[in-house]
Formats: sequence, structure tokens, C-alpha cells
Amino acid sequence: MNGAIHHVTAITGEARRNIDFYTRVLGLRLVKKTVDFDDPSIGHLYFGNETGSPGTLLTFFPIEDAAAGRLGVGEVQETVWCVPEHSLGYWTHRFLAKGVENQGLTRRFGERTIAFKDPEGTSLALTGVPGIETQPAWGGSEVPADHAIRGLHGVSLLLEDAEPTSAVLTDVLGYRETAVEGTTRRFRLPGATVGGVVDIRAVGGFLKPRPGRGSVHHVAFRAENAAAQTSMVERMISHHGLVPTEQKDRRYFKSVYVREPGHVLFEIATDQPGFAVDEAADSLGETLQIPPFLDGRRAEIEAGLPDLADD
Ligand code: ZN
Repeated sequence: MNGAIHHVTAITGEARRNIDFYTRVLGLRLVKKTVDFDDPSIGHLYFGNETGSPGTLLTFFPIEDAAAGRLGVGEVQETVWCVPEHSLGYWTHRFLAKGVENQGLTRRFGERTIAFKDPEGTSLALTGVPGIETQPAWGGSEVPADHAIRGLHGVSLLLEDAEPTSAVLTDVLGYRETAVEGTTRRFRLPGATVGGVVDIRAVGGFLKPRPGRGSVHHVAFRAENAAAQTSMVERMISHHGLVPTEQKDRRYFKSVYVREPGHVLFEIATDQPGFAVDEAADSLGETLQIPPFLDGRRAEIEAGLPDLADD
């Protein structure tokens, strides 16, 4: 649905380690191995549910020698997944068995949540969401489908000042402020099943970020079609004075990027055409996909990304 989170994209280290954690430990499906279309010397990995539907996607740029990132204002602080409420016990045991650093079960805005980190320090959490078990689950991993991650719950943004960003969330993307807990304001998109929560933590005077391994690069919000995308972009310009990019063809969706007033990079990504556009739905993510405009550089790209080209 328009305005819900489409995907989150982060920076990580070695591709193999990243794939291992997200597919084997978290039980997500690797739905696409491709390259950063703006710099094809860097890979781009997409993890999600069986089809990689919008709202279930976390994507990574693996950069082996990247320095560790340091969180600062103007960044996504944490990316939160939703699991069935009855599955939190399963995940507690799984994290213990797999040695995943976590903060144990806590409550946020009344929701039971386990905050944890991936091997590169990316801040993540699982939240138990009532009724989410009816959403499609990927049953192809060692995590039983009953307990599988169903998609993104939301993100939290660490900002200098909450107001200008909250105005974009409500006016452009359709969110409503629903609650406050401590220094965190919660915004929800009415009617969204997955990807409908944005928390804002305003911490004036905090450090500036130093992007690197474990940092989120951007967060993308959904546009059901090109017309919806255009109207969101026009609102960003006319109501908020923002300066979005031209529309870019990302093959699996079409995207417009904008630095929102709190300095987080937002993207508006279309729901279509999705991941089955260049490989069969039952073999998503198995072979490195090079977009047609880079076809002439295939050999060079594959040689530079042995971790992705091997399979
Ligand atoms: Zn993106």
C-alpha cells in the first residue's frame, strides 16, 4: 500500500557472511543477487519472503573492507521485523543456540520485542505482532514457516529534530502519530499490515553519523504505481521544499530518492515489476543478475565479485 515501507538498504562486510546470517539464522530468502546499479563494482543482495514482496525486504551492499559505521543523527537507528506473537520463545532459543547477540525480551509501545544485531553490527529487532501469522511465510529455510519472519514491522529514525520529518511522514506518506514513549514518537500508516511503523527519536546535539558496516544507507517507501509516486514526489517539492532525484529504473522497481529534512535518505519505490522479471520465481537469488545496461561489462563485474558469481 502507498507509503508503507518497501525495503531498507544497509552496508555490510563480506557477502558470504551476510548471506549466511540472513538465510540460515533469520530464515529469509535471498531473492536477488545483483550489483549496485550506480557502482557495479559493489554487489547488491536482497533478502525477503518467498517472492520478495514489498514490505519484506532488507537489502545490502557488501563492502569487505568497509570500516565499521558509527550511528549518528540523520540515520535509521534500527530495522524491526514482525513475527507471530507465539514465536518469540522460539526466537529467544534460536538466538541462544546460534550465538546471536541480543537484549532479551522487552516491551515497546506494548509490543513484545527482541533487539539484536547482525554479525556486522546492524541493529535489528523482532516484534510479535497479533494476526501477522496470516501473512505469507518462506518455508524453504530451517526456520519452520509457523515461526518465520513475515516482513518488516518498521524502522526507527534518530534525528536532531522530529518536526520536519514527521511533517513529511504525515503529509506525503500518510502516517499518523499514534503514541509517545519516553523520547520516541510512534507514527503508523493506517491499514498497513507490514512496514507501517516509523518511530522517531529526537536527540538534539547527538553525534553526526559515520556511515560504514552496519549502517543503514536508506529506507524506501512504497508507491503502488507511477501515478502515486508522482503525486508523493510533487508533494515533497511543493509542500516541503525537498529536492528529489529523477526517477531511476532499478529493474525490480522504479525509484525516486530524496534527502528528507532530518537528513535520512528516503526512496519512493514502485511495487512493480518485482523480482521475477529476470529469473524464474522458484530460483530467485541463485545466479548473479546483471542489468541489461551493464551487459557489456559482465565478465569484468563477475571477476570482481567472486562471492556472488560462484554459484
Ligand atoms: Zn533502495
